[in-house]
Amino acid sequence: TDKISISLQQQRKQLPVYKLSKRLLEEIRRNNTLIIIGETGSGKTTQIPQLLLSAGMAGSSGCIGITQPRRVAAVSIARRVAQEQNVPPGKLVGYCVRFEDVTSPQTRIKYLTGGMMIREAMTDEVLSDYSIIILDEAHERSVQTDVLLGVTRRAQKLRNIKSLSPLKLIVMSATIDVDKFTKYFQAPAIYLEGRQHMVKMYHTKKSQNDYTFSALVTAFQIHRESPANEDILIFLTGQEEIEAAAVAARQVAKQLDGKGYPQLKVFPLYSALSTHQQLEAFKPSPPGMRKLVLATNVAETSVTISGIRSVIDTGVVKEKTHHPTTGLDILRIEKVSKAQAWQRTGRAGREASGKCYRTYTLEEFEKFKEMPIPEIQRCSLAGIALQLLVIGIDITTFDFMDKPPDDAINTAVACLEKLGAVKGSPPQLTALGRTMSLFPLDPRFTKVILASTEHNCLEEALIVIALLSGENIFLDPVAKRQQAMAVRSRFSSDEGDHVTLLNVYRHYVKATQKKSWCQENFLHFRNLEYAVNVKRQLTALAEKAKLESSSCENNTENLRRALLEGLSENLAELQRDQTYVAVTSRHPVTIHPSSVLHGIKPQLVLFTDVILTNRCYIRSLSIIDPTWLHKKSEFD
Ligand code: ADP
Ligand code: MG
Repeated sequence: TDKISISLQQQRKQLPVYKLSKRLLEEIRRNNTLIIIGETGSGKTTQIPQLLLSAGMAGSSGCIGITQPRRVAAVSIARRVAQEQNVPPGKLVGYCVRFEDVTSPQTRIKYLTGGMMIREAMTDEVLSDYSIIILDEAHERSVQTDVLLGVTRRAQKLRNIKSLSPLKLIVMSATIDVDKFTKYFQAPAIYLEGRQHMVKMYHTKKSQNDYTFSALVTAFQIHRESPANEDILIFLTGQEEIEAAAVAARQVAKQLDGKGYPQLKVFPLYSALSTHQQLEAFKPSPPGMRKLVLATNVAETSVTISGIRSVIDTGVVKEKTHHPTTGLDILRIEKVSKAQAWQRTGRAGREASGKCYRTYTLEEFEKFKEMPIPEIQRCSLAGIALQLLVIGIDITTFDFMDKPPDDAINTAVACLEKLGAVKGSPPQLTALGRTMSLFPLDPRFTKVILASTEHNCLEEALIVIALLSGENIFLDPVAKRQQAMAVRSRFSSDEGDHVTLLNVYRHYVKATQKKSWCQENFLHFRNLEYAVNVKRQLTALAEKAKLESSSCENNTENLRRALLEGLSENLAELQRDQTYVAVTSRHPVTIHPSSVLHGIKPQLVLFTDVILTNRCYIRSLSIIDPTWLHKKSEFD
């Protein structure tokens, strides 16, 4: 291990940040806020916190907090840095992500998701644990970073006013709109040169209509032609696409294996997997074996996946967009921006020179937008508005770097009012709102949980919300679709998909051989395990919120009544011509074929999701009795 750690130390010292370390430390000493622009691979994320700590910049006991846009980035980077410091994770170097806190009183360098930092600000507005906060990957413009830009700046000012120890802020990013950041923070920027190994670029000559197929064809061409130690990373858009591609890739790999090609191991990587499963993809592959990672944009920025020499970029991403007519967040497949395409390319040149294959033409690339649209401009703000209020900030006057549209802000406040979380103008938090803020969920889902106590079905509500928080638990094997439907029909409920989900869960927890039980029933084992874990965490939160436990057993009408209290905006109604429209927006919608209510025409349904393809599909439904609507909610 001595040899390994010596070479690790040598590698570190060669990163571009070390050339500038003296100047960097001076600038940080001199300024309360500093913006660091560095091309990818300069050593920002892994090295700067270590530099600051060893220079004594964190004071004698203060913590350096570094936010990451995603869970797996926070965990994998913290582990790497712990290794560089030769300590186990959780001691000097730790991390904190939703549902997992690996820190201790000795922790001085802490990687955490933006969401966790906001949660900390909710109980401590001046963020007193930290002497330095680094907002990493600011260019990605996730809602959390955008909110933190304001929240940390406010904490800095408050500490000044209250004469507390100062808070240093560092905003780090690869490529950003520098002027915008320097103006917003009134702070100087410093540039770091990148250290990207050479990445050779390829574009397709012709436009491709099936990007998954072209990506797989490319992957197997690489597999047949290059040495086994060169791993491959493909960017796709989401779980279902990735799981389907994984099945196809494993089949082809098996055939080739027999023909003397290296063994190929396939690793899916997307956010609905548990952190532990996501980290599998980061492990170096054993000699003679090739790794094929099929990832969403969770692997796009920040991370280094060991062994990757070829990146295949499909140029698409699943993005949340707020749908003004339905008032809902919709996931939709979009072209990436140029900045994202370059980040993806960069993953091929982290450790050595590599190659990037784009399954689109150069002309198509030229048409991509330069930067991604900040998420805050395109998603529902109710959850963020609630969190800000808990910190003591009114979203209607909050100083955003890019202010979301007024409509979106007003809708968010109106939604919270309707749920009973806020009242008055400017909006004030109610006791209910404070309880709601304890749950890391969309406020409408939290409302379902709170309302479920009135309907004696807390247990069932927690199960259903846990299942809805993860990804699809139903497998959809194209070749065996009929068989899958037949086997699973015993779980189906004529009350709708939520009760069906509940039935599956209840059977699942009773099954002794869970993996094979899932196989027999065409269910997704990992996603069910994930839901069990989330359910456990939600139960703990419910206890913390002092909710009285209850169960409705087989009287599942109660569950649907509780769902209605949180999701009353999500109703669709049958028309004379047998089509559906959304009740609040009068927008035409269609029941998704995956629903157990597909083909049955209930008068009124509640939906959880909207998917926009050629039609506006509604998914995860429950039948609602129209007479329930006349009953006033307890909370009104
Ligand atoms: P930046 O944030 O500037 O993009 P990082 O600090 O994340 O840079 O990483 C700098 C370099 O350190 C990477 O390009 C890679 O060579 C090396 N590195 C970082 N993490 C790992 C890891 N987990 N395994 C192998 N090399 C790593
Ligand atoms: Mg980085």
